Amino acid sequence: MPRIDTSKVSRWDLHGREHVVRVERTGVQRTLRCDTCGWRRGAPFLPWPKAREHLVRAHQATVDPSEP
Ligand SMILES: [Zn+2]
Repeated sequence: MPRIDTSKVSRWDLHGREHVVRVERTGVQRTLRCDTCGWRRGAPFLPWPKAREHLVRAHQATVDPSEP
């Protein structure tokens, strides 16, 4: 089993570039922040699906590097 890092979501696009959305916690708040484009969004619940959705929509990044 790969170790799951819940502080970020990482995907690769079809060109092999890595895109990372970080999940930052500030008290009870969670904020998503994209390293590639600077996109930010508050996400109090289940931030990871929203992070993946951004990676797909904004960067066409669908490849999960933690999957074989
Ligand atoms: Zn982005």
